[in-house]
Amino acid sequence: MIWFMISLLLTGTVILTVCVVYCIVKLKNNPLETYVRRLLSCAMGVTLFNVSAMLIPNEKLSLILFAIYNIFETMTVMSLLSFTRHYIGKSDGLGFMRMPIFIAAGIDAVILLINPFKCIAFKVERLADEFGNVFHRTYDYSMIYTYHTILVMFMALVVMGLLVHKMLISPRAYGIKYSSLFFSICCLAVLSFLHLYMDFKFDYSIGLYSLEGFLIFYFSLIYIPRGLMDRLMFFTVASMKDGIVCVDIDGNIVHANTAAVEFCAADSSVNTLDEQLKIWRRDEIKDGNSIHIWEMTRKIGEERHYYTIEYRRIYDSLMKSLGYFFLIHDKTEEFIKYETEKYRATHDKLTGLYNKEYFYDVVEAMLKENKDEDYNIIVTDVKNFKIVNDVFGVPEGDELLKKIADITRKFGGSYCVYARLTGDRFAICMPRRRYSEEALLACYSMADSFVENTSFKTHIHIGVYRVTDRDMKVSVMCDHAMLAIRTIKDSFRNRVAYYKTELRESFIGDHRIISEFESAINNGHFRPYVQPQIASNGCIRGGEVLVRWFHPTDGMIRPDQFIKILEQTGLISRLDRHMWELACIQLKKWDEMGLKKSYLSINISQKDFYLLDVYNVITGLIYKYNIDPARLHLEVTESAIMDDPTNHLQLIARLRKRGFIVEIDDFGSGYSSLNMLKDLDADVLKIDMGFLQKTTNPEKSTTILKMIIALAKSLNMQVITEGVEKLEQVEFLSRFGCDIYQGFYFAKPMPVEDFETLYLNKRFRMK
Ligand code: C2E
Ligand code: CA
Ligand code: CA
Repeated sequence: MIWFMISLLLTGTVILTVCVVYCIVKLKNNPLETYVRRLLSCAMGVTLFNVSAMLIPNEKLSLILFAIYNIFETMTVMSLLSFTRHYIGKSDGLGFMRMPIFIAAGIDAVILLINPFKCIAFKVERLADEFGNVFHRTYDYSMIYTYHTILVMFMALVVMGLLVHKMLISPRAYGIKYSSLFFSICCLAVLSFLHLYMDFKFDYSIGLYSLEGFLIFYFSLIYIPRGLMDRLMFFTVASMKDGIVCVDIDGNIVHANTAAVEFCAADSSVNTLDEQLKIWRRDEIKDGNSIHIWEMTRKIGEERHYYTIEYRRIYDSLMKSLGYFFLIHDKTEEFIKYETEKYRATHDKLTGLYNKEYFYDVVEAMLKENKDEDYNIIVTDVKNFKIVNDVFGVPEGDELLKKIADITRKFGGSYCVYARLTGDRFAICMPRRRYSEEALLACYSMADSFVENTSFKTHIHIGVYRVTDRDMKVSVMCDHAMLAIRTIKDSFRNRVAYYKTELRESFIGDHRIISEFESAINNGHFRPYVQPQIASNGCIRGGEVLVRWFHPTDGMIRPDQFIKILEQTGLISRLDRHMWELACIQLKKWDEMGLKKSYLSINISQKDFYLLDVYNVITGLIYKYNIDPARLHLEVTESAIMDDPTNHLQLIARLRKRGFIVEIDDFGSGYSSLNMLKDLDADVLKIDMGFLQKTTNPEKSTTILKMIIALAKSLNMQVITEGVEKLEQVEFLSRFGCDIYQGFYFAKPMPVEDFETLYLNKRFRMK
């Protein structure tokens, strides 16, 4: 009998081992797996140590093994408790009970480990006659052993309580899940309890640990309650956002969820779901199709809805058709989101026009598709856009850009592609046969006076590239149009310039200028020319220093061919510093020659203000050469001041205080705020030659000239007029009160030596 029981226990252990291995190999990813495995391992410990305790021939060792068996028993119930908590959805192990249970189990373990030496809990006896030659625990348990029993029972009761509570609060579908576990634990508890009060020599309940372990393993990890699965599936399908219609092999609808019914109800052209399926079967599904997916759109009310419909046949394990289903996916939201994203990725936020990248793509495709059509790429650039932002503020700047975008839209119409490339640059690609320069100018002149009630004029420059090489990148075509814009010098009117191959050469020339600049400055290839300035009484005391580049192979190069590129690259400050020093050396020389009254005007580029400490450099130079600052006139352009009025006006004030004569150069060429003049304490106003050149309205120009001279006089400023080419100009300028003249009528810029010998200390004949 005893050997039969022992074999049974060992069989139980083998089963548990198989379950543990199964857990490790097959159920690794199941979150319950660790809990079940722990429980199974402890149950194995219980049976193994119980068997060993019985079979060991030594009484003391048997007592020790019985103690360990009891400790494993406690651990098994603890594992059962933490498994149960996890099983019913509490993921924190023993939770708040952890500490008290660990302490109680610790005390229990101490008692049990002392027992083999003191026999305070239980004793063992050898039962040789009835059950064979094995040890067995005697049943005269002490009160201390009752502590172990109570602890185990208490935890078992908590487990049952938790399961009962869960069974009560869960939907009926879950009954089988929790009750199977509950009843198997109940059986174990009842049988163990009976064992305590009945006089069985052999503790049969030990075998129940294996059974219990197996049942828990099976119910929690292997068994899937069918009813629960069906219900879960049913409610999952019912609550899906997508519509589902399941159809049997005879074409009858077996199930349609709410979304599918609503889909049908929203369309007035079909009455029933059956009718809808018939249409799909007729129009979309061909015989033998096991999967077919298609798109459809419908108008519901004012809104357009977009759907993906999926048809799919269902097969059993023998590949026999069980029917099919339709999945109706409303993708309107995704579609709108996609469209919005696409719009965002391809359009400019401020103006709503295409962005640069999209423009390039669309134009490239257009050029490929329409091989017989010739195209022009037009790029526009607002000349003085920075001033708009600085003077009128960014919101006004944005308004101007929106206005230009509207103009571009209007000019482009439906047969062109247009975009905002960057900042103030817009581009249009249009068929050449539709292009007209007059229409272009007329359209863009609408942006001229965008700020009402001010004299401010927007200057829009336009570059046109006639597309000849269709394989060229569109970005390069736009660069060509931009290159054309760079050739526009006069910013008074909106102007159009066309790309020519020579421009490309000049662009290549720009690179040459940059690479040759350093050696040119070191080898003295930049030399000063001086253009005399003549006072109204005919006296010449000085002139403006204008740079000339004497290139070893290309000969003399005029500043308009390199100043701009030097300004763009920042090299201008190197050149200016050099020219200023040459001017100082010249003044020093004149000093020594006794020409102490002669002065020289030097140009200060707008970029110098950012690249140099203008004040320190210039004062440093006059200190170095010991020159009177009043003999170095400083020409600062109006736009350089407007670039950062606060700081630059302060700088001008400091320079004047130090004794320099400050001249406002090119007055009238940019944004001329007469208002600015009152804040500007400069010595001389140098009126731009634009006023004297041919304009559409010469009378108006002359009137403005007269007004400016009068205004400058009233502000105690001297007036220099540049670009005087004719005697009649000298005459009316002198009538208006101009003080000093500079222009080809008197003399062109010349080498310093010529200037010295020809003009210094000489009087010019005014008539
Ligand atoms: P700017 O300062 O306005 O200099 C006057 C320009 O007008 C000079 O051109 C001069 O030759 C030209 N000019 C003088 N009188 C007449 C006239 O009656 N009719 C016409 N059509 N033109 C006349 P230039 O020497 O070619 O200089 C061009 C520009 O280059 C200068 O304009 C100035 O902005 C810049 N520049 C010249 N030298 C320097 C320099 O050393 N440093 C800097 N930063 N800029 C310089
Ligand atoms: Ca100048
Ligand atoms: Ca000037």
